[in-house]
Amino acid sequence: TPRIGVLAVQGDSREHLQALASLGAQAVPVRRPEEVEAVDAVVVPGGESTVIDKLLRAFGLMEPLRRRIAEGMPAYGSCAGMILLADRLVDARPDQQTIGGLDVTVRRNAFGRQVDSFEHELEFAGLEGPVRAVFIRAPWVEEAGAGVEVLARVGSGPAAGRIVAVRQGNLMATAFHPEVGGDRRIHAEFVAMTARATSRTTTA
Ligand code: GLN
Repeated sequence: TPRIGVLAVQGDSREHLQALASLGAQAVPVRRPEEVEAVDAVVVPGGESTVIDKLLRAFGLMEPLRRRIAEGMPAYGSCAGMILLADRLVDARPDQQTIGGLDVTVRRNAFGRQVDSFEHELEFAGLEGPVRAVFIRAPWVEEAGAGVEVLARVGSGPAAGRIVAVRQGNLMATAFHPEVGGDRRIHAEFVAMTARATSRTTTA
């Protein structure tokens, strides 16, 4: 079983740990640099990306995360986690940094401050039937590089067509929170991505 770490410095790590455990993964919180080295994959939860950024730097987690992701470790980010996995941001705080890895430009709080949170049914590439997506002060992907696969877009309303889920190699991100609500299919996809990546490295 893959050992999947959930960054637990700020945000909804508990919901991700429960979702992963319910799928039979070994789910462990990650708060220290040594813990980054001891996992097969990492989840970056929803929360507040500026706070998570500051704490990752303060706790010495930023550099190990960047190195392991560059070496191919799978990572999945939801909402603030999508922001943290993006190479480029729009509407970031002036000194805000990201872990990076995904060749995308992500806009923070993209749906506007008046649209604090909402739910929306999405078509999601590779999944049968709609995903009920919970958005909370969510970002969207403003621009995606050529190597980035778009997994979901907003289907209707003023934001119709906006990219809200992407994948590039071993990295995946959603602007919404599948850890909130009972649909485990996106976490299942990440567990499967991790199992594939882990079997590749151990047989190589
Ligand atoms: N707006 C938050 C940020 O910029 C993200 C919100 C969330 O993760 N629900 O970090």
